[in-house]
Amino acid sequence: MNRIRTLTVGVLLVAFCAAPLAGFAADKKAKLKPYTLKVCIVTGDKLGEMGDPFVYDYEGREIKFCCKGCVKDFKKDPAKYIKKIEEEEAKAKKAKS
Ligand SMILES: [Zn+2]
Repeated sequence: MNRIRTLTVGVLLVAFCAAPLAGFAADKKAKLKPYTLKVCIVTGDKLGEMGDPFVYDYEGREIKFCCKGCVKDFKKDPAKYIKKIEEEEAKAKKAKS
C-alpha cells in the first residue's frame, strides 16, 4: 500500500515539474522578437501607408514589410536586411535615451 502511494506521489511530482517546462517551451516558440521599426526595411517606406503591413516570421523574429513583394527582396539576402534592422533599432534606442 505504501509503495503505491509513493508511486502516485512520484507520478504527480513529475507531472507537476514537467508542466511548467512544457509551457516554457511552447512560450518560447510562440514569442517572436517584435519588429519595432516604423518603416519597411526593404523600401524605407512608412508601414501602414499602403494598407496593412505584411508580417513575416524569420527565425523567431517578426518583420513587417510595406507589401508582400518586399519579402521576395528580403529573402534574396536576409542577413543584409537583418543587419539593417539591427542598426536601425540601435539608432532608435540611442535617440530615446
Ligand atoms: Zn514593400
